[in-house]
Amino acid sequence: MHEMSIALSIVEAVDTKARAEGARKISGIDLLIGKLAGVEPESLKFCFSAAAKGTLAEDALLAIGEPEGIGECGECGMRFPVTFYYAECPKCRSLRIKIVSGEEFLIQSITIEEEGE
Ligand SMILES: [Zn+2]
Repeated sequence: MHEMSIALSIVEAVDTKARAEGARKISGIDLLIGKLAGVEPESLKFCFSAAAKGTLAEDALLAIGEPEGIGECGECGMRFPVTFYYAECPKCRSLRIKIVSGEEFLIQSITIEEEGE
């Protein structure tokens, strides 16, 4: 239950932040989860709704952006899509690949409703 522990930490983070800002509830959460981050978005959404019960994030809409994996060759500098960490450069066959995109895992923004709105 990898996704459940992630969901719990997201809920805790946004709930803490929303309370600090005097929010009544959280209506939306924007997440960025790269395709190489090893998180299944559908599974995370499912866990999130369970994890958010009884918190300010209970009715929050989860929007998940999924940047594609992009690798950059350490030999020839070519950039190409990767679906796995151990990629091979399609041009020079080098294995010295640096991942430049797709590992993102962050909460981009949250939308809150303030007291008395
Ligand atoms: Zn190369």
